[in-house]
Amino acid sequence: MRERHPRSVNFEIPRYILFMTYFSNIKTAVSTVFEGMTITFSHLLREPMTIQYPDRTPLPVKDTLPPRYRGFLCVRPEICTACTLCQKTCPIDCIVIEHSKDEELKQRVMTRFDIDMAKCMFCGLCTEQCSTGAIYFTNEFEASTSNIKDLVFKFIKQGEKVIPYKIPRKKKPAAAAAETQAAAKEKKE
Ligand code: SF4
Ligand code: SF4
Repeated sequence: MRERHPRSVNFEIPRYILFMTYFSNIKTAVSTVFEGMTITFSHLLREPMTIQYPDRTPLPVKDTLPPRYRGFLCVRPEICTACTLCQKTCPIDCIVIEHSKDEELKQRVMTRFDIDMAKCMFCGLCTEQCSTGAIYFTNEFEASTSNIKDLVFKFIKQGEKVIPYKIPRKKKPAAAAAETQAAAKEKKE
């Protein structure tokens, strides 16, 4: 016969504890089912929240977006200086700008300004670099397409030449003061 370990104890859970646990589990199950069904039935009395996007919304969704929403990027080439800072800042090379000296016009022209919105991660680094606000975020976000190349936005058409914008230089304080004095003198006369 196998000998009992001197320290082993014959432990038995008292019956009343087993009963209490059993009834407590039933109580928990009933209350949680009741709680769940209360939420389910409360939805029968609420207004439905289904939004029939995109064709049956009360307002176009882009008009309901917050003012600082980052949608697709847009470029105003007419105020772009062709500094290429946005291109250099983009960490994933979404922006391609081409500019060169035009022999006909005898000055620098931009011939390409593309942004690959399929690659863009909307970080905003390019917009922060731009000194003229030529590149900015819009609230446009709808452009589903079956061809990923459609997401390369071209802001300068093929064959088009855009003369880079020149930021007007600030007048020196002495020159500005002289101009103001001259204008005041003219008024007196
Ligand atoms: S938002 Fe960011 S990722 Fe997109 S083009 Fe600008 S710098 Fe590149
Ligand atoms: S969009 Fe702005 S940062 Fe980019 S090249 Fe033009 S002026 Fe420079």
